[in-house]
Amino acid sequence: MNIHEYQAKEVLRSFGVPVPQGFAATTIEEAAEAAGKLPGPVYVVKAQIHAGGRGKGRFKELSTDAKGGVRLAKSFVDIRADAAEMLGNTLVTLQTGPAGKQVNRIYVEEGSEIEKEFYLSLLIDRVTSRVSFVVSTEGGMDIEQVAHDTPEKIVTFSIDPATGIMPHHGRAVAKALRLDGDLAKQAQALVESLYTAFTANDMEMLEINPLIVSKDGKLRCLDAKVGFDSNALARHPDIAALRDETEEDAKEIEASKYDLSYVTLDGNIGCMVNGAGLAMATMDIIKFYGAEPANFLDVGGGATAEKVAAAFKIITADPNVKGILVNIFGGIMRCDVIAEGVVTAVKEVGLKVPLVVRLEGTNVELGKQILKQSGLNVIPADDLDDAAQKIVNSVGGLN
Ligand code: ADP
Ligand code: MG
Repeated sequence: MNIHEYQAKEVLRSFGVPVPQGFAATTIEEAAEAAGKLPGPVYVVKAQIHAGGRGKGRFKELSTDAKGGVRLAKSFVDIRADAAEMLGNTLVTLQTGPAGKQVNRIYVEEGSEIEKEFYLSLLIDRVTSRVSFVVSTEGGMDIEQVAHDTPEKIVTFSIDPATGIMPHHGRAVAKALRLDGDLAKQAQALVESLYTAFTANDMEMLEINPLIVSKDGKLRCLDAKVGFDSNALARHPDIAALRDETEEDAKEIEASKYDLSYVTLDGNIGCMVNGAGLAMATMDIIKFYGAEPANFLDVGGGATAEKVAAAFKIITADPNVKGILVNIFGGIMRCDVIAEGVVTAVKEVGLKVPLVVRLEGTNVELGKQILKQSGLNVIPADDLDDAAQKIVNSVGGLN
């Protein structure tokens, strides 16, 4: 689960991490009030969406030379104008994709005078199963680009969970950022509080880009992007309460209510599959025959007819879906349960696109019989290859 920058900064502040003062606002009036509580004379107005690259982003509704989603403001008049241009409009950044994201909230914070910009992040390294630090002097810009062009400018190390964070980790960060004296001490304290915030909240990712040295010699986090391990949210009701469903895909939210693993994709073939591996294989073979899947969907091993019906409804509600492929291997999951779920859902919501069903495994004959007797216009398939070809042909090949 991801949260907004203003929420991330609040969480970090509570762990003693140095972040600028700021207040969130959903109206022009609130934005002006927020600025009134800040010292000034320089303010920064920042669009709050779950995507980075806001500074270089552009608003769909504004002319292309209008400013992006992070703006310096020097007066209340500027702040009101920026708020008016941002609120309700759609910000397109490298990370939002061409559709962009509507800005429903902005963050007004004190402006910092920047001496240097660095990059610092913490994430779970799946290879070592440890929390890793990634640090670079090349902050403020696209870290993927830095990793590609000048990988030697990125320093990484991981933390042994048995010892936790140690003074030498702080020194490693200070060295990587070429900081000494008081700034090295600040780096030490920062590294400790970031690690504590990360582990105490079961974060998955914590990215500070940029971390800055201000003209008055202070290390400060000017941006914060935080993601949490969704499986651990039950342990953190305060964090779970920060969820902003308007930032998430409506179909994915609906799927999560039924405990379905669902991810929206760009293609036009809706897939309903059991088991993540089989779902991947199904997506691969659809691509192999020249089409693109509209989603990843794993209904799980022990799905009920109700769950299958919910999954089917989510797929059919997607206007991009021009055909559906149900590919089930009945192991723990029985084929008749799948068939019943599909029939129930189709009776309720109708079926306007071709449906190919491939069933194999436990109670397969019974499952096929249920589909046949239902009178639904189902195209049966014998195996994965046959199923993929049939669905790709019936949607007319490529998107
Ligand atoms: P994004 O990464 O989404 O573009 P950032 O929060 O990193 O958004 O802001 C983009 C740039 O704007 C930063 O790299 C920094 O140079 C500048 N900036 C952001 N916040 C402040 C601030 N409080 N004071 C001064 N400059 C800022
Ligand atoms: Mg940033």
